[in-house]
Amino acid sequence: MTKPLPDNLPLQVVERHGFGNYRHAMQALYRPERLQDILTLPEQMASVPLLACGLGNSYGDAAFNTGGVLASTERINRMLSFDPERSVLRAEAGVTVLDVMRAFAPRGLTLPATPGLSKITLGGCAAFDIHSKNHWLVGGFGESVLGMQMLLADGSRIECSRQHNADLFHATLGGMGMTGIILELEVALHPLPGMTAANRSIPFQGVPALLEHIAEVQAQPGTTHLVAWLDLLNQREASGYVIASSLENGPQDQSIWDDKKAPPLGLIAPFFNRWSNKAFNLAFSMKHRSQPSSKADLRSFLFPWDALPNWNLLYGRKGFVEYQCCLPFEGAQVSLARVLDYVLANKQKFPAYFAAIKRVRDGAGMLSFPINGFSALFDFPVSDGLWAFLDQLDEIVIAAGGRVYLAKDGRVSAQAYHRMYPRIEEWQRVRSTYDPRNLFASDMARRLNLVSKNG
Ligand SMILES: Cc1cc2nc3c(=O)[nH]c(=O)nc-3n(C[C@H](O)[C@H](O)[C@H](O)COP(=O)(O)OP(=O)(O)OC[C@H]3O[C@@H](n4cnc5c(N)ncnc54)[C@H](O)[C@@H]3O)c2cc1C
Repeated sequence: MTKPLPDNLPLQVVERHGFGNYRHAMQALYRPERLQDILTLPEQMASVPLLACGLGNSYGDAAFNTGGVLASTERINRMLSFDPERSVLRAEAGVTVLDVMRAFAPRGLTLPATPGLSKITLGGCAAFDIHSKNHWLVGGFGESVLGMQMLLADGSRIECSRQHNADLFHATLGGMGMTGIILELEVALHPLPGMTAANRSIPFQGVPALLEHIAEVQAQPGTTHLVAWLDLLNQREASGYVIASSLENGPQDQSIWDDKKAPPLGLIAPFFNRWSNKAFNLAFSMKHRSQPSSKADLRSFLFPWDALPNWNLLYGRKGFVEYQCCLPFEGAQVSLARVLDYVLANKQKFPAYFAAIKRVRDGAGMLSFPINGFSALFDFPVSDGLWAFLDQLDEIVIAAGGRVYLAKDGRVSAQAYHRMYPRIEEWQRVRSTYDPRNLFASDMARRLNLVSKNG
């Protein structure tokens, strides 16, 4: 039964979609301008479910709360203090990665973990303990978080860290907004080695060569980031390039942080298909073969999607699934080959237009996605039969002891999810201590039985 929404909040009823464009839902959105306006929400909600959100850049239904209230932190975005001795920033949850980089890169500091798009809030980074191409070296966003101030279901504000309320801290990193609203975060910035990325591409063919090159590159001093790009459209076997990068001194050009107009990608969506992607992959491969060394400015390197923030429109009305899974290091040669063979064997019906592999280590939160091993990512256009194909892929991942990344998900079943994340019961116990009334909920949390269906 639909519960009446609080009538004293200026709610906008809007249609929201995940970045993958295959989940849409009408949402009662609240966009307060001051932190003060968020503080009374738990009291005002009565029995209506509440969810904090950032900029809505998760791919599926993580930032939907159908039938409840979605409270956006996008305007709660002040940087509060900076301790230059410890390089520690305290900021409100709606501050974006772009805001931080724009302010601190010129001072030689960086967030250690950054997503591929910079317009992502710090709250959203913590709620998914996001990771980047240097995860094997520096860990995820959660590792740089020293503390958080939370608004709990009973309306109280408490600080949590590794020392105080550590259970809440570890349940909140990767906790998808289910433990409370992150109001403020304290984040340790790292020295930024340089403003220019020097990249080196190493070709590989087959999984053993891929893993060998990743291990070699990891061991090379100076390598800060690595990713493997795969062509799964033109080849019979997994092949592509391991791209190893290091940051070095280069020109300080503050204009890289300026906003550029997004190109009208929706217009070329009708021409974006298997054939154009095959051609793109061949050209990409040729470029890396003929030019194995390249340079890029810091923004293009860390945030490649900033130049095309609307690239999801290329997939047209039906959208796409960015399927991202993690496989344990132990046995990865076999499990990664199984996953890739399955994708390759089905490429006629379900082509992966884009595929990438990263080296990752264990995450900081109870439900963090990364585990020591490899993350594999595939972009599939939505088509008939895709859900059954991906359910089967889930089973291959589960059999290998792996899991799917929920920031990119809108389709995994509750039954599969609970077999992927072994710390789920521990997390649910902590969550119910801090939210006994089941106030915080999302469409994703209801779909995955993370919270009671009434929440
Ligand atoms: C182009 C693109 C590239 C990406 N690249 C990467 C990548 O390289 N690595 C990676 O790990 N992820 C990546 N992501 C995923 C993205 O980083 C996460 O989905 C992130 O959570 C989105 O943040 P947001 O501010 O848009 O939050 P939303 O999408 O609005 O919310 C995401 C989740 O965070 C919760 N949340 C948000 N704010 C708060 C708060 N203040 N308190 C409590 N909970 C909160 C929400 O409830 C929701 O569960 C990428 C996404 C896109 C679109």
